[in-house]
Amino acid sequence: MGLEDRESMRILRDALDLDLGSEALIGDFHTRWFAADLSARDLFPPDLEKQRQVFAQALCWLCDELIAQRAEEPVAFLAQLGRDHRKYGVTQSHYATLQDALLTTLRKALVEQWDRRLAEAVDDVVQLVVGVMSGAADAETSPPFCDGTVLEHLRPARDISVIRLKMDHALAYHPGQYVPVQVPQWPRRWRYLSPAIPADPQGYLEFHIRSVAGGMVSTAIVGEARPGDRWRVSNPHGAMEIDRDGGDVLMVAGSTGLAPLRTLIMDLARFSQNPRVHLFFGAKYPCELYDLRTLWEIASTNPWLSVTPVSELNFDPPWAADYPDVTPPRGLHVRQLGLLPEVVTRYGNWSDRQILLSGRPAMVQATKAALITKGAPAERIQHDPLAN
Ligand SMILES: Cc1cc2nc3c(=O)[nH]c(=O)nc-3n(C[C@H](O)[C@H](O)[C@H](O)COP(=O)(O)OP(=O)(O)OC[C@H]3O[C@@H](n4cnc5c(N)ncnc54)[C@H](O)[C@@H]3O)c2cc1C
Repeated sequence: MGLEDRESMRILRDALDLDLGSEALIGDFHTRWFAADLSARDLFPPDLEKQRQVFAQALCWLCDELIAQRAEEPVAFLAQLGRDHRKYGVTQSHYATLQDALLTTLRKALVEQWDRRLAEAVDDVVQLVVGVMSGAADAETSPPFCDGTVLEHLRPARDISVIRLKMDHALAYHPGQYVPVQVPQWPRRWRYLSPAIPADPQGYLEFHIRSVAGGMVSTAIVGEARPGDRWRVSNPHGAMEIDRDGGDVLMVAGSTGLAPLRTLIMDLARFSQNPRVHLFFGAKYPCELYDLRTLWEIASTNPWLSVTPVSELNFDPPWAADYPDVTPPRGLHVRQLGLLPEVVTRYGNWSDRQILLSGRPAMVQATKAALITKGAPAERIQHDPLAN
């Protein structure tokens, strides 16, 4: 029976569900694994809360999929996970110790229900996870990451950095994708960032980073990144794209959420004929519309692009006294006042557009909800995953 034994799979699934109290089980697994394999502990950051949560959610989702007898997506997911974990330095020997620790932990946690059928199902699930992840990692021939040197750190606004790098090798990614990044200020704390320029054959790369209150990595980048720092960038993810035959486009960017949309726009600028693109670029204060000049420059030679700046407030804070003026040149859209979801939907329902949203999770969710309420079809709306 194994993976087809739905009853046993449900028992396993419930044991892994955080909402049903799987925290102790997941904690026990990590303790057991690290006790058996000290080198595995070094792969993770000191606090494991997030890793534990993600691990439990992934295993729970996997069981749900297998119970529903869907195997294709879980196998693809596990293979991607295996390839991604190469960047942490996970080796085949770590998989062997992980397998032992996970099996022992599950057997102990499920001791009261343990019988031959449950043992078979648990064994099959653990083997599937370990087998697919380690197999995909082993089969992957591309390097797990690429290092690069910071060339320039610009601070166009108090909380925003533009970081320009030269990678040791050219990095391949599609416009609109994002990449895991590790900075020297916070080893082993990978964060996703979206390149703000299309892939460059010489290896030049640009990121736009906004420091979030209490954020570990973003505040370190904005406060401390300097030329000469060595950054590590891993393989790209994400599927935001523009179908050049798919009709006109609406883009909504909040703050540094601009980065992937700017890359898509720069990529479109290679073609003379494009669908019309209307970009709303929003920030709290006018002075935080940090990249308007680039956007206006692109729009000045690409008539398919319109840019509407949006700010929540109509004045700048005292710390922005010497910031450049962001009044639009004559003939371009004047700045609108309000929150992005309100301003964007004031213009209509955009139901005939390909819609791309990028920015803080709360902004993306609110804009998506407002557009759907107005009549935009949900399946035409694209955005990146809302959490790391
Ligand atoms: C697909 C994807 C692409 C991304 N691209 C970019 C990018 O190009 N530029 C960029 O600046 N950021 C980007 N981010 C966000 C980035 O990965 C980090 O999450 C963010 O910089 C915060 O990391 P931190 O270590 O400073 O905060 P953490 O220490 O991880 O978190 C501290 C606190 O900040 C909150 N928080 C985390 N992320 C955000 C956020 N985005 N907005 C508001 N609060 C947050 C957390 O809930 C927590 O309370 C992207 C995220 C994803 C998922």
